[in-house]
Amino acid sequence: MTSFPPIREELRGIEPYGAPQLDVPVQLNVNENPYGPSPEAVADVAAAVATAAATLNRYPDREFTDLRRGLAAYLNTSGGSGITPEMVWAANGSNEVMLQLLQAFGGPGRSAVSFAPTYSMYPEYARNTMTEWVTGHRAEDFSLDLDAARRLVEERRPSVVLLPSPNNPTGTALPPEAVTMLCEAAGEGVVVVDEAYGEFRRSGTPSALELLGAHRNLVVTRTMSKAFALAGARLGYLAADPAICDAIRVVRLPYHLSAVTQATASAALRHAPELLGNVAELRAERDRTVSWLREQGFTVADSDANFVLFGRFADRHAVWQGLLEHGVLIRETGPDGWLRVSIGTADEMTAFRDALTIVMKTEQMRDTP
Ligand SMILES: *Cc1c(COP(=O)(O)O)cnc(C)c1O
Repeated sequence: MTSFPPIREELRGIEPYGAPQLDVPVQLNVNENPYGPSPEAVADVAAAVATAAATLNRYPDREFTDLRRGLAAYLNTSGGSGITPEMVWAANGSNEVMLQLLQAFGGPGRSAVSFAPTYSMYPEYARNTMTEWVTGHRAEDFSLDLDAARRLVEERRPSVVLLPSPNNPTGTALPPEAVTMLCEAAGEGVVVVDEAYGEFRRSGTPSALELLGAHRNLVVTRTMSKAFALAGARLGYLAADPAICDAIRVVRLPYHLSAVTQATASAALRHAPELLGNVAELRAERDRTVSWLREQGFTVADSDANFVLFGRFADRHAVWQGLLEHGVLIRETGPDGWLRVSIGTADEMTAFRDALTIVMKTEQMRDTP
């Protein structure tokens, strides 16, 4: 060992991942729901946590039975049908679910495939689980080239295929044919469709939950962090064949979901209609944002999510910085030249449009080819 601490060679010098957490009036950078929980939901969560607090000398229900029942019932109202509690697994955010999937199905000598540009956390979980990370590429409009995707999967035989739909940071949803084709091409490998933004999809865009009955190797992940307005609670989950949930049980930490988390999430599920009540408004605000950006002459990716990727900028960092100076925090992510803005309240989006208009006027920001 030549240096302290004795961190793994491939982790040496790497900065921990994370968007800047800055105290700015308009925060449109991590795709949170801008609307807080209703007073009724807050009261019910508080009461449920108080009840759980009286039992905190004991370990929680390792099988989070009530919560799984609630999540299964919710999924059957949100694109799924016939989903039973045995088909549901949950963890501290869908990021933990993803890590557990790679712990169970990845590992040395195995690979995971995704298609760039995509969620920047995936390669980190592959690295942490010593799973080889293989990336294909999306088309110019960020859709999947189905033939190329199938060829890559057939050639590399990954044990995990990761497909966010809608994709982050582009907002692109996958058509059901793509999921079906990749489930078939993957053979024994598992195909994970990450629907973190599933509730925001435009009407006519189906959920991969519909395909669960047809493909034993399909896993659909969801989260309470985005549409559900519960990012602070850390609760993500999946639906899949019960055998997949059994495999994850082998790698999960003991009692990984605290009694407080379980009580919070179960209470929140009882308020699903309220918590999801602003999704329609956010979708409309997203569509308005896309139209406005296009009217200003920007290139904008079609979005089924609660964010919009737009560009292209000769110096995106300067635009990001300029917006920040006007109190608007967005995200410098995605392919070079693009920026991503999360959809906030109508007032927050007005602040974003005003700030962007000023920033674009004061500097020669656009990428003039
Ligand atoms: C935000 C996001 C998640 C959700 O993460 P949590 O850990 O559940 O908060 C998952 N996948 C993608 C692609 C995301 O953007």
